[in-house]
Amino acid sequence: MTNFWSRVEQGLDDECWPWRGHRAGRRGMLKTPAGHKITAHAAAWMLKHRTRVPDGCRVEQDCGNRFCCNPSHLAAVQLKGKAPTAVTGERNGNSKLTDEQVTELRAHYKREGVTQAQLAKIYGITQGQVSRIVRGCNR
Ligand SMILES: [Zn+2]
Repeated sequence: MTNFWSRVEQGLDDECWPWRGHRAGRRGMLKTPAGHKITAHAAAWMLKHRTRVPDGCRVEQDCGNRFCCNPSHLAAVQLKGKAPTAVTGERNGNSKLTDEQVTELRAHYKREGVTQAQLAKIYGITQGQVSRIVRGCNR
């Protein structure tokens, strides 16, 4: 991550700062020292705020430029059950959710008609786990 900003074309505060490093699909990607793949803009946000992206949130660009890494264009937003696009950090099928996340997940499922497959992606768990959670069984 030390070279991070050298891979961002930095401009003025109100300009977009495009990511010049590796791109995967329609977003900038990089590997953390621990080997996790994260999106470039999420890394920019974390470097700026010196914290990880809060659970249940993801970093999005206010400007709509998917490669923009200008921290003043980035915001950590609460996931609202729309189709997931950004993936940060580690995902695996054995992840356990916190009680809060379980409550949140059930609320998403009931209120917003999100599919179980979408929820599985958002929370980084398997669809089977989502199914068990929304049916109110254990996790
Ligand atoms: Zn921007």
